[in-house]
Amino acid sequence: MLIGRRAGILAIAVSLSVASACGSHGAASSAPGCAEGPPVIGRQLRIATTVAPITSIVATIVGSSGASVVGVVPEGRNSHTFDPSPSVAATLETADIVFLNGLGLEEPTRELALANLSDGGELCELGTTVLPPEAYLFDFSFPEAAGRPNPHLWTNPPMARRYARLVLDVLVVRDPARADRYRANFEAFAAQIDALDGAIRSATATVPAEQRLLLTYHDAYAYFAVEYGWTVLGAVQPSSFDEPTPRDVAALIEQVESTGVRAIFGSEVFASPILRQIAAETGVDYVDDLRDDDLLGSPGDPEHSWLAMMRFNYLTIIDASGGDATPLRSLDVTSAVSDLADYPQ
Ligand SMILES: [Zn+2]
Repeated sequence: MLIGRRAGILAIAVSLSVASACGSHGAASSAPGCAEGPPVIGRQLRIATTVAPITSIVATIVGSSGASVVGVVPEGRNSHTFDPSPSVAATLETADIVFLNGLGLEEPTRELALANLSDGGELCELGTTVLPPEAYLFDFSFPEAAGRPNPHLWTNPPMARRYARLVLDVLVVRDPARADRYRANFEAFAAQIDALDGAIRSATATVPAEQRLLLTYHDAYAYFAVEYGWTVLGAVQPSSFDEPTPRDVAALIEQVESTGVRAIFGSEVFASPILRQIAAETGVDYVDDLRDDDLLGSPGDPEHSWLAMMRFNYLTIIDASGGDATPLRSLDVTSAVSDLADYPQ
């Protein structure tokens, strides 16, 4: 999709850059993609991001290097339907790099960025770049017919690690003077992600295989489930983000009863009485505080990070599924760097 005044100019550049890091799908067809902008010399990088987990990942690589990191999507808002106000254009037009998840998650923000990118500005879609189309997952909430895969890659730690690595690759090209700091920040972060990954695997092993079942309200754990051997029984939230129909609810109740799932999981952002109703009718536990893009605590708090949010989600899921979450509980999720990003609330 070509949008905005730059589209004509960019058509020529795009044909020269299809072999770049950003691949040949998504943003690469309409804007300079990941690590395609010129080095910024003599001043600090200006970076814009979208949802809080991506802001946190970027801020962890940036650390206290001096680059500014400004999130666009307020925490606690529905990121799937968020439409930025025109004032966000000012942030986007001064950004050297705009990091998005992509895969259709933030289309209005992406369009605003494409219409306002400055010369030398680039739009890097992390998810679109790291996930080949053959690995796309489609399901009830993200049906293939609608053309957009499930975009929640960052809830799967190995995929979030690839996001962090791509952020590093971009920063090293755009701000070579601080490349060593970015590399050191990435190495420290990657070690923490690997430790989280190991803890999830150890804790998952304590859950009987037939109990590794996820019935969630918001469909944010599809890639996690594939990675760690869980089965997503279903997600309650339809692709419209409306409440499910009575027929959907009846089908879910039947599924809960036939599978013996021990708990069902609500989303802290999408409060819904439907899951509570299903839990009451079937007698299973209802856990209502999983979160996929609203970080714990407030900006500046030590637990306000992607890493702490992931630990919280997975120890919550393991506990409720009858496993032993000790490997996750004992994990140190303190960041090695200060998070100086701007998180809108
Ligand atoms: Zn989501």
